[in-house]
Amino acid sequence: MSKWVYTFGDGTAEGTADMRNLLGGKGANLAEMSNIGVPVPPGFTITTEVCTHFTKTGGTYPDDLNAQVEAALETIGSATGRRFGDLEKPLLVSVRSGARVSMPGMMDTVLNLGLNDETVGALAKDAGDDRFAYDSYRRFIQMYGDVVMGLEHHDFEAILEGFKDEKNVDLDTDLTADDWQLIIERYKALVQEQLGKPFPQDPRDQLWGAIGAVFGSWMNARAITYRRLHQIPESWGTAVNVQAMVFGNMGDTSATGVAFTRNPSTGENALYGEFLVNAQGEDVVAGIRTPQAITEAARLESSAPEKPSLETALPEAFGEFRDICNRLERHYREMQDVEFTIERGKLWMLQTRSGKRTAKAALKIAVDMVEEGLINHEEAVSRVDPASLDQLLHPTIDPKAERNVVATGLPASPGAASGAIVFSSDEAERMAGQGKAVILVRVETSPEDIHGMHAAQGILTTRGGMTSHAAVVARGMGKPCVSGAGSIRVDYKAGTLTASGKTLKTGDIVTIDGATGEVLSGSVAMLKPELSGDFAQLMEWADKVRRMKVRTNAETPADARAAREFGAEGIGLCRTEHMFFDADRIGDMREMIVADSEEGRRAALAKLLPMQRSDFVELFEIMAGLPVTIRLLDPPLHEFLPKSEQEIEEVAGAIGVSATKLRRRLEMLAEFNPMLGHRGCRLAISYPEIAEMQARAIFEAAIEAGKRTGNPVRPEIMVPLVGLKAELDIVKAKIDAVAKMVAEETGTEVNYDVGTMVELPRACLTADKIAESAHFFSFGTNDLTQTTFGISRDDAASFLPTYQAQHIFETDPFVSIDVEGVGEFMKIATERGRKTRPDIKLGICGEHGGDPASVRFCETVGLDYVSCSPFRVPIARLAAAQAALKAKA
Ligand code: PEP
Ligand code: MG
Repeated sequence: MSKWVYTFGDGTAEGTADMRNLLGGKGANLAEMSNIGVPVPPGFTITTEVCTHFTKTGGTYPDDLNAQVEAALETIGSATGRRFGDLEKPLLVSVRSGARVSMPGMMDTVLNLGLNDETVGALAKDAGDDRFAYDSYRRFIQMYGDVVMGLEHHDFEAILEGFKDEKNVDLDTDLTADDWQLIIERYKALVQEQLGKPFPQDPRDQLWGAIGAVFGSWMNARAITYRRLHQIPESWGTAVNVQAMVFGNMGDTSATGVAFTRNPSTGENALYGEFLVNAQGEDVVAGIRTPQAITEAARLESSAPEKPSLETALPEAFGEFRDICNRLERHYREMQDVEFTIERGKLWMLQTRSGKRTAKAALKIAVDMVEEGLINHEEAVSRVDPASLDQLLHPTIDPKAERNVVATGLPASPGAASGAIVFSSDEAERMAGQGKAVILVRVETSPEDIHGMHAAQGILTTRGGMTSHAAVVARGMGKPCVSGAGSIRVDYKAGTLTASGKTLKTGDIVTIDGATGEVLSGSVAMLKPELSGDFAQLMEWADKVRRMKVRTNAETPADARAAREFGAEGIGLCRTEHMFFDADRIGDMREMIVADSEEGRRAALAKLLPMQRSDFVELFEIMAGLPVTIRLLDPPLHEFLPKSEQEIEEVAGAIGVSATKLRRRLEMLAEFNPMLGHRGCRLAISYPEIAEMQARAIFEAAIEAGKRTGNPVRPEIMVPLVGLKAELDIVKAKIDAVAKMVAEETGTEVNYDVGTMVELPRACLTADKIAESAHFFSFGTNDLTQTTFGISRDDAASFLPTYQAQHIFETDPFVSIDVEGVGEFMKIATERGRKTRPDIKLGICGEHGGDPASVRFCETVGLDYVSCSPFRVPIARLAAAQAALKAKA
């Protein structure tokens, strides 16, 4: 018989922390907390395997599940002295989802389950509080009606608001037990009217309804979107946790809250969280009431210092809570995000999990925990998500810049961003699609806003705390967010916001500072990120364990310098075509292209030579003896020519040919499929004089830079788009001839390597032959992905979303290497290349070189280096370190 149900609570549990695949994150941690003696309300977890069964069979359960759930209910019953439907001591439970990784706001929760027309009376008597009991029952009907029965939340709200109007009161707290009873009757009538059946009274029916809703919600649209964005496989499923209710809304000695064991924004080692007196869990996260700080220190810095902290309001419970937080941190050796409830002074822990944090906090926590002796260097390196470093590389507002502050909210997620304001997620997505930077402004966000938050540069809300949906999700996405800017009035209908007497409309520019919570009108000067301190420390540890080198793709001095600052160990790809687009060069380039004789081309190339040479000298100097790979001209020549009639006229005048001649040349160069056309090494073969000029510029620059710096330069000259050894041989012969010529002219011999991009399937399959001539291979995985799939890298966007929605692609293959296909070609090329030339240098310079998952794959293939854009160099360094650690494990 399979075991589908695992109980926990009362100081013991059937599961443990390492069973998260089966029990989900929440279930595994509830079990672990029980095992280490933390007070957890008793309950049980239904495994993720049941979810898989449920999804596969269209909503059925394994045969023996019912019996196991009944047995688990018995166990809760004996731990609490309560039973389902009991008229004296009724058992009430919460039902929550819990997948292997947390999916904030994606899945649904039902509280107070077990209440009905009869047990509500028992709860009232037991609690000695009628109002509390009927309030709980109406909350239950509302939540269950919404989450399980599919009714609209606002229909219930409308009943409540209507009732308050009739009674002429403003606040829920003005309503009495009798009022709630009347509202309950109206709620039940709503259910009957809309669904044609009564609200379920049998707690077992309620329970199975809720379990089915949680499993069903695994396949709802929001969950599917979240999984797609976070690359979570559908096959994981969710577990369901059923747990005895404890109440934070039983008066002034009751409370509920959420906390992080360290500050999730800064990483500071101080308990950090929020709570509400006399409230239920969802009140804190919903951001309807402004929560209070947990510690005195935090209260003094909060936006509502007049409200007492937990530390002073309920000192005993606070003391126990602080001790438990310390224990949990030491036990898990990781910063925890916890939920708790205090019922009449008694503390209960409802959840613990490793806390989401900003990159800045992740670095600080990892480095601090090494200093505290909790973890070692290698663990610290594996604790920080490489992709999250991107956040640190975001700009911040220049402290010297003038700040036109119109409002201040909470610093919910760091970094600063400027953009046009939009008031809906659809609008955010639409405008971002047109290449505009937007700031999404909402009163509060909900899971329906995920796509808008994704499209926006930053998020601004007028309601909600540091743990509101907007704050949690923005931090996860690494986007700046200011939440709870309560002085801003948003008018969705008019498309305006009003702050400090100013009205801004859709499209107006604001800047948000996620580090201070400030909202500024207009755009503001930004500063480059600070890369010392914890960042430098962690990178130093990462560099120690890393095997692969990290180079950069750069051709401008500014990029090369930035990359050096980020720790690049050379240039893996200098795309020389980018050096010809400057206003003062493009004319000579066009002259070269339009010339109809070799002589004409050589004359134009002679003008380009000194410019190329000085570019290379500068790059060699910046790279100070580190390897530099320079690629010969790659794109089809018509990319350099004008397109519109007006431009043709202008350019013809500028380069001294007739517009007719220019047009004729354009027609000759036109191609149906330029990406598979006259480009790459095919150019060097048709127009050897271009390759000769470039080779000369490289050699002469190497000599000059070597003289200037005293570091001999050993350039790596790379031939693009090679598919046959013969192609490489022809181009290499030209390069060798130029090398000889330059050596004779200058009396200085340059040591150099000639290698090739590997970006065609044929190059991979014949890598053994190509390696006879190539000193190195650099995988051009942009083109290799394009040619392996036969998908145009420039046109894929038109169908890629459909492919992802239908799970044909789990991830965009131009972002993360398709291991099965493109990866296999890389493996073949590596093996065959090395067979011919065991010391062949192997690298990657496609966009994938900065993608952590692809870097991991490159480690398994055994590449010598990865090369990526300058801003991704730190990401690649950390990813390479983690890949090396994984390979060692
Ligand atoms: C590649 O194809 O992966 C590559 C790096 O070259 P480009 O992007 O310039 O075609
Ligand atoms: Mg390419």
